[in-house]
Amino acid sequence: MEIELTGEVAERVAGAERVVVLTGAGISAESGLSTFRAQEGLWSRFRPEEMATPEAFAADPETVWQWYGWRFGQVAGAEPNAGHRALVRFAALFPSLVLMTQNVDELHQQAGSEGVLELHGTVMRARCTRCDYSEPMAGALERSPGAPPPCACGGRLRPAVVWFGEPLPPALGEAAAAAGEADLFVSVGTSARVFPAAGLIEVAYRAGACVIEVNPEATAFSGLAHLRLAAPAGEALPALVDAFECCRGAPG
Ligand code: NAD
Ligand code: ZN
Repeated sequence: MEIELTGEVAERVAGAERVVVLTGAGISAESGLSTFRAQEGLWSRFRPEEMATPEAFAADPETVWQWYGWRFGQVAGAEPNAGHRALVRFAALFPSLVLMTQNVDELHQQAGSEGVLELHGTVMRARCTRCDYSEPMAGALERSPGAPPPCACGGRLRPAVVWFGEPLPPALGEAAAAAGEADLFVSVGTSARVFPAAGLIEVAYRAGACVIEVNPEATAFSGLAHLRLAAPAGEALPALVDAFECCRGAPG
């Protein structure tokens, strides 16, 4: 795939200083991690909305823990793809780039991205419901695959994700501030249905950012995009970063 940036978008990219990238489940689809609407297998009869709540964990901690054990297994077996890797090159072009993700798979970090703002936490760690203790999910599951293990403080461990109805982590404040100051905002593989993360696109747009959307399907925010790339992230992002390199000119 080849992309040539022209007109306003090319100008905006050339002059951009504050750059934000928001990613969703779509960027990890080509790593074999299904988005929420397309899951298969033993656990697929449970909808995330049924498992990913504090109420579900309180009512049936064993089932919720085992469901996250299943999700952890999928994520732990996945590798970053060309889309994740392209964002590492993107950050090299724009040193102030802020990468924020709704994903809980740590594939950006695994690809080499730094300073990733995790808006929904991570399934790769477990944390205590009561104190500050946290540890890698792998060890917690190994000790106790069937039920959340106890913490030394008397609490119990849970996945370090953000559940529906829970307050978003401090990273969201940083993310909102960055979106409000962005002059280039790239949204990748998010259906933009889960708020408030999805609202960041609108925040950036209203603040005057040039908005680029990478998603094979149209979303509620496609109309705001100055450039829409209707292709999988693994193809579109490497091509987009190539085009950015052209716009920005060779360093020095
Ligand atoms: P979503 O499932 O609602 O939407 C995924 C979007 O990705 C869709 O718009 C789809 O058209 C697009 N898409 C599919 N394949 C793509 C590709 N190859 N390249 C680019 N885009 C592609 O996901 P969401 O918007 O992230 O929101 C739902 C919630 O699901 C989030 O809270 C997230 O935490 C959670 N989730 C995370 C993971 C993960 O960590 N990998 C996986 C599933 C769900
Ligand atoms: Zn504890």
